[in-house]
Amino acid sequence: MVAAMNDLQDLLVDQLKDLYNAEGQLTKALPKMAKAASLPELKQAFEKHLAQTEEHVARLERVFESLGEKAKGKTCHAMKGLIEEGSEAIKEDATDAVRDAALIAAAQRVEHYEIAAYGTVRTFAESLGLKDAANILQKTLDEEGQTDKLLTEIAETCVNQFAEAGAGSEEEA
Ligand code: FE
Ligand code: FE
Repeated sequence: MVAAMNDLQDLLVDQLKDLYNAEGQLTKALPKMAKAASLPELKQAFEKHLAQTEEHVARLERVFESLGEKAKGKTCHAMKGLIEEGSEAIKEDATDAVRDAALIAAAQRVEHYEIAAYGTVRTFAESLGLKDAANILQKTLDEEGQTDKLLTEIAETCVNQFAEAGAGSEEEA
């Protein structure tokens, strides 16, 4: 039987389980995205974020521990869907630049999901006076935000590539 949720701490734990599963899914998806990326900066960004994501998993384990809870996941259906869209981008029959742009589009959706989720759990932890947990969650939240910004910068490089290649490919058509 699923435990009843009676207070904000129960809801916090439930949301942490969702995130724990989501981050776990990402540790499997990011290597595939890195492999599919063509632009070296993008490949590197995915590899760097994989290392960060492994740390996000470890941080969540620390938060569970601080709450006296077992680190346990609960299928995050939203992340499943977002990752599925990412794998569609990987499989697409596209030019390298188009695939890179599609990978960034998928990855930024993932980061925004995480930003929303970590913002929520950080605020819950703060309201509950769980200072350590709130600080740990804030650290991850900051890294998700930085990753989103980095992806935006790389996307601009991608778009510039289109601008350079654009005129030529139109003439060919
Ligand atoms: Fe993360
Ligand atoms: Fe992330």
